[in-house]
Amino acid sequence: MTLLEPEPAWTSWDDLERDALACTKCPLATAGRSQVVFGVGNREADLVFVGEGPGAEEDRQGIPFVGRAGQLLTRLIEGIGLSRDDVYICNVVKCRPPGNRDPLPPEITTCRPYLEAQLDLLGAEVVVTLGNFATKLLLDTKVGITKLRGQAHPYRDGAAVLIPMLHPAAVLRSGGAALAQARADFVVVKRALARAQAT
Ligand code: URA
Repeated sequence: MTLLEPEPAWTSWDDLERDALACTKCPLATAGRSQVVFGVGNREADLVFVGEGPGAEEDRQGIPFVGRAGQLLTRLIEGIGLSRDDVYICNVVKCRPPGNRDPLPPEITTCRPYLEAQLDLLGAEVVVTLGNFATKLLLDTKVGITKLRGQAHPYRDGAAVLIPMLHPAAVLRSGGAALAQARADFVVVKRALARAQAT
């Protein structure tokens, strides 16, 4: 399939996952990935986390956010009284960029239909973008994460809110103040979720 062909309108998780797992549309397919890291969690969740792309451990296990950054994300999720099984977790690109480099614009564009289809099928009311890549892509902005984080932005014509957060890997690198910001952002997430579930 070329980039110019229309994407199938996936109406089931099974079809979407099957196509994503077999994807060879961009160079990441042959750049050393062991497997496609599709996404994990509750497919009826009200809360979804969108990261950047799988790292080495995620590529090995086929599950997003299971390395050190993922362990921090898990602790932050548990800190608001939820577990990973209550939420859905996925990435902008589904295959590991070699050497953990940033995903390139054509890779992001090629992979985007899978992410959009995941978000469509989920219909989650609260979308949390982890770091700059997911935030800039889904909010269609050039504004950086430090300005946008911790605020609920209207998303999908007001049907959902999008809350950008620092990427957990950046929190691990920066330590104290960044961790406090991440915890504060999770409080915003918890409130947004409570609001969504009350309506
Ligand atoms: N970083 C990401 O953005 N996603 C993962 O799945 C792991 C680390």
